[in-house]
Amino acid sequence: MSSHKAAAVVPIITSQVERLAIIDAPKEAHQHQHHIHRLIRKYSSEKDSDEDNLSDDGNDDACCPRSPVTCGPSPAVEKGHGLSRLLRNNKAWSKAIRERQPDFFEKCSQGQQPKVFWIGCSDSRVPENELLQLAPGEVFTHRNIANVVVSTDLNCLSVLQYAIDVLKVEHVVVCGHYGCGGVAAALGDHSYGLIDHWLGNIKEVKQQHREGLDSIQDTEEKCRALVEINARNSVLTVAKSPIMRAAWERGQEVEISGVVYDIKTGLLSELGYHVKSEKDLNAHLKVESKDLFANRAQ
Ligand SMILES: [Zn+2]
Repeated sequence: MSSHKAAAVVPIITSQVERLAIIDAPKEAHQHQHHIHRLIRKYSSEKDSDEDNLSDDGNDDACCPRSPVTCGPSPAVEKGHGLSRLLRNNKAWSKAIRERQPDFFEKCSQGQQPKVFWIGCSDSRVPENELLQLAPGEVFTHRNIANVVVSTDLNCLSVLQYAIDVLKVEHVVVCGHYGCGGVAAALGDHSYGLIDHWLGNIKEVKQQHREGLDSIQDTEEKCRALVEINARNSVLTVAKSPIMRAAWERGQEVEISGVVYDIKTGLLSELGYHVKSEKDLNAHLKVESKDLFANRAQ
């Protein structure tokens, strides 16, 4: 599992991007993205924002590769995060989208029909809409520290139930990420106060796979392994929930997948955990811990 191919982006995510109306014309989208970003840069540099006074400064070089949907000033440009700056950003974002698709927000207001339910980490470097290039309305989300799913978390389970029973999403994606502070903390013995209770869930996973983890000498590699195992655990916990079992029982087609995001490359990789039936779940549950570490560098 350690040799994830960097370009192995989940097919369902690709299909989501392909069907995304707002970027469904690649050439035009690219031009629009440049244009939008120039507008936003210009706009954000104005102290007194005025939507009607935007002009194009023609500076293509400064255009960042951010989503045409969530495009805004890059973090490097934006030093202060005062509310006024945030509101100006928001106004620019709204204007840029309305210029491109005037009825976008009107359509949004009519309801949501996301096909993807994303369970990810709260880490600010892993923003699902941004990295998936999905528009508002395209992905239903639950995030917490270290993308943990436990059967006693009513918050997470409520979001899952709404996603499955009401929205009828077709894909549940659990995303772990390398460099996860929550997972790193769970690997250590330091106490962080209240959060220790939450990290206890990951420590349990660590205990279950202690032998394999202990066999890895490199600290970063050990952390990467636990990130992957933790994501797997969340995939299986979702699959074992009465919500998913009932959905499959009534013939609803939903697949749960595990992916990992590399904050050093911005790429998602599949973890090889796909569960779309009780049968799949049972097959995954039969896999022994040592097999999860079989092909990993020690
Ligand atoms: Zn994290």
